[in-house]
Amino acid sequence: MATDYDAPRKTDDELSEDSIEELKARRMDKNSGKVDVDEAEVAETFELPGADLSNEELSVRVLPRQADEFTCSNCFLVHHRSQLAFEKNGQPVCRDCAA
Ligand SMILES: [Zn+2]
Repeated sequence: MATDYDAPRKTDDELSEDSIEELKARRMDKNSGKVDVDEAEVAETFELPGADLSNEELSVRVLPRQADEFTCSNCFLVHHRSQLAFEKNGQPVCRDCAA
């Protein structure tokens, strides 16, 4: 009788454990997939302000130009005074634009 009780109990425990492990594994897969999507969405949202900061850095580089530099009135790039080709109506034009 004891073996009859032990045998079904062991099989039930093994079956229940396997099913629980399978459920856990499936839940882990689903959870991990959701986490990956969330992280990707968060990363995308963080990329936007990063791009804005890079644009701000580019604009900041142009504004505080040095005394020996000028902003081309045609391409609006900051060049060294040595790259100044001529001034058109008082506005400097770089050699690249004059060429
Ligand atoms: Zn230019």
